[in-house]
Amino acid sequence: YTPEIEPQPTWCPGCGDFGVLKALKGALPEVGRTPEETLLVTGIGCSGKLNSYLDSYGFHTIHGRSLPVARAAKLANPGVEVVAAGGDGDGYGIGGNHFMHTARENHDMTYIVFNNEIFGLTKGQTSPTSPKGHKSKTQPHGSAKTPIRPLSLSLTSGASFVARTAAVNPNQAQRILKEAMEHDGFAHIDFLTQCPTWNKDAKQYVPYTDINESDDYDFDPTNRADAQELMRETEDKLYEGEVLTGVYYREDDRPSYQQEKQEIGEMPDEPLAERYFDGDYEWERSYDNFIDKHK
Ligand code: SF4
Repeated sequence: YTPEIEPQPTWCPGCGDFGVLKALKGALPEVGRTPEETLLVTGIGCSGKLNSYLDSYGFHTIHGRSLPVARAAKLANPGVEVVAAGGDGDGYGIGGNHFMHTARENHDMTYIVFNNEIFGLTKGQTSPTSPKGHKSKTQPHGSAKTPIRPLSLSLTSGASFVARTAAVNPNQAQRILKEAMEHDGFAHIDFLTQCPTWNKDAKQYVPYTDINESDDYDFDPTNRADAQELMRETEDKLYEGEVLTGVYYREDDRPSYQQEKQEIGEMPDEPLAERYFDGDYEWERSYDNFIDKHK
């Protein structure tokens, strides 16, 4: 399927969101997923426009609710590649509770959080990742709040894959996105995205280090204690002007929520309902068969 009119992104020139789109467009074919096998669920914000520009199924949800919609979609159709996306305000603020529990339950999906340290679409208000002292229209004398620690929060909540990348390097971002999509379980990517319109001070512009490739960081991402220590260091350094990125943690042998449900017979292997196009379309309701089996 080729859209007749390719939608053109309306993000500001230089916006980091372009880097996310580029990386995602590159990673999907690498994992062998076609547009009709992919669902991109987004929240509200500049990041929420992402699914308007990707050739796949899309669901633009309400603020902070991309994860429950993405979970439901994955449960209804386990064969679909589900990617959820939203900004740091949407994901760590409004949807913070969903983030914590989706990580804890290890739902099989990739979650991209566009972290630009402000609310961009609504003109630069302070967000959960804004640094202490950051001045905005909502905090004109500087934020008195300590920013959230997204990587540490993800790990302690139970995510089985935790990474950080940056829009200024779409090649690394594409590599990490590919690994995240191939991972069976909840894969969280804190994606640093510059907002040149409302957050000119953000540190995402400075050179950064890839912890998986640098000789200065000899660590094992399957070691939880190592990951935890490095995450805290990373979260502090970001606001001091040093950006560390890479895959921090991965736990590959833990079953996803979907796998556990299937093992105990509470979830079918096949989609709940399927629609076939074969000349005239027809419905097959496998959900009815599943209910019959478990009466
Ligand atoms: Fe990007 Fe910021 Fe413009 Fe939104 S306001 S499109 S985040 S540069």
